[in-house]
Amino acid sequence: MTAQTPACPDRPIPRSGILDIAAYVPGKEHAPGVAKVYKLSANETPLGPSPKAIEAFRAAAEKLERYPDGQALALREAIGASHGLNPANIVCGNGSDELLALLARIYLGPGDEGIITEHGFLVYKIEILAAGGTPVTVKERNCRVDVDAILAAVTERTRIVFIANPANPTGTYVPIAEIRRLHAGLPPSVLLVLDAAYAEYVRRNDYEAGIEFVSANHNVVMTRTFSKVHGLAALRIGWLYGPAEIVDALNRVRGPFNLSAPAIAAGAESIRDQAFMAAAVQHNEIWRTRVTAEIEALGLTVTPSVANFVLIHFPDEEGRRAADADAFLMARGFILRAVRGYGFPNALRLTIGDEEANLGVVAALKAFVEQGR
Ligand SMILES: *Cc1c(COP(=O)(O)O)cnc(C)c1O
Repeated sequence: MTAQTPACPDRPIPRSGILDIAAYVPGKEHAPGVAKVYKLSANETPLGPSPKAIEAFRAAAEKLERYPDGQALALREAIGASHGLNPANIVCGNGSDELLALLARIYLGPGDEGIITEHGFLVYKIEILAAGGTPVTVKERNCRVDVDAILAAVTERTRIVFIANPANPTGTYVPIAEIRRLHAGLPPSVLLVLDAAYAEYVRRNDYEAGIEFVSANHNVVMTRTFSKVHGLAALRIGWLYGPAEIVDALNRVRGPFNLSAPAIAAGAESIRDQAFMAAAVQHNEIWRTRVTAEIEALGLTVTPSVANFVLIHFPDEEGRRAADADAFLMARGFILRAVRGYGFPNALRLTIGDEEANLGVVAALKAFVEQGR
């Protein structure tokens, strides 16, 4: 807990809750002393961005003295056209992280509770604390968000529920019927945030990112990102689809120029390049299936994933644990994501890469499993 603040402190003191935050630790990107590195730790796409997005980014470099359009209209219109949405119900953010932070700031204050799940995305907890609220963590079941556990945790102080669907780092998803059941059980004053950062990758008949659901309700928003399948993580572009009142509140609080002009231009071109995205999804589908099967054939457990990464569980035996595998793989240039902070002390998350990376990491895992046998 935060220590008692003296009446007249001799320096500025962060307000209550801030020093309870454990700073977000991103996936590693360096493997010291290794010539060739395969970064498979941050769920980035191996195919990069659409060439059309790169071209738009370069063109925007000619006008860097100008402020961007504070409404990001070109981007909101391109998103609207691509998904059949009214651009007036879309807010763009400096990454979807910014939108998640703004939602927490707008709907939570001291004494309020935000519900998150056991293995949920760590950003939610950080933003609830930063807003002065209290994070309430509920159990998952078999690495899946448990709707009943969330409903059981709702109190009169609950203001917001954050779930990622599909979830990171598990790669599992909640079918739309379950989301409907969750929503039906929430008081209308509680905001349900559906973080659909990996929605494009999902090919399941019972999955929906939540668009219909947002349209029909006053207390649901869906967030999306250009950081994953679009390959524009460096540009920081996210968006939210929500009801008018929530969009209005966000537009009052967000920075007036929260997206850069190159980001607006590149994002708009990217979402128009459907063929490029379809190829990225196809690549992922083929390789996630193959990588999963090959890792399971080594005797390791893989949580069934619908996204562009897989969670690999290791045996709890001396020399064979996740930390041992992490060191072994790192020495060979394969950087995976340790997920101890997500409640998985003995697992690693692997992002699906290009052919060379995928075959290489499976071969390295095989060597790890076979060593000393
Ligand atoms: C990667 C990711 C995001 C995207 O964050 P950006 O700020 O848009 O880059 C959001 N939610 C989850 C669960 C993610 O894994």
